[in-house]
Amino acid sequence: PRQDQVEFVGAYLNKQLPPTLGAPEVAFLGRSNVGKSSLLNRLVQSDQARVGKTPGATASVNLYGLYRGGGNSAANKKKAPKCLMGLVDLPGFGYAKLSKDNKEAVQMAAERYLAERKELMLGILLVDIRRVPSDDDKAVLAALYDSGVPIIVVATKVDKITSSPISTMEELPLELEKALYEIQQELGLPEGQPLCVSSTTGEGIKDLWRIIMEACEG
Ligand code: GDP
Repeated sequence: PRQDQVEFVGAYLNKQLPPTLGAPEVAFLGRSNVGKSSLLNRLVQSDQARVGKTPGATASVNLYGLYRGGGNSAANKKKAPKCLMGLVDLPGFGYAKLSKDNKEAVQMAAERYLAERKELMLGILLVDIRRVPSDDDKAVLAALYDSGVPIIVVATKVDKITSSPISTMEELPLELEKALYEIQQELGLPEGQPLCVSSTTGEGIKDLWRIIMEACEG
């Protein structure tokens, strides 16, 4: 496991932008229950903070900092932790089941973040492998395209269709192939997307982490 620490930086609403951490940022989008917090926690492999499980997390733009060197070893204690990356849980775009006022407040924060955030290097849209993408998913994808940031679409919970590691399979199970094709067509995705992941089996997690690191290194 990496020696990184995850810290909740803050929750933002309305026209607030989070403070900059001096590091590149990656934003995660997708309807609730798609597996966003499970994926975030699997990616950062942290038991220090439960990403995405902050009370009210679905009702605001949430920024987490991934820090290196903040660990408990004597050597690390002396050094100021270096922020490697900001991870942003970006709700809104019709997904959140909220009151009208809350919805507007979170939507405004999310739109402003996408439109103005210079640190944003990659937008990751999560869709459930077993579901046909919704109009909300399409709207989010359109907002991401408008923002001009690189985008990757990730299909979550692939273990619900197959528990075998996809990378070693010569032929994908028909059900999986159909599900992937449907998502690809529905969202108009390029070859190779959606990327398959499972937070339960770890499928695709290393690949996604590599894509995130590459985007952050610019
Ligand atoms: P969020 O609302 O998008 O943050 O979703 P969560 O991460 O809380 O996950 C919603 C539900 O799906 C929880 O019951 C998780 O245990 C389950 N879940 C999330 N990821 C996976 C996965 O990769 N495989 C399986 N089988 N279940 C998952």
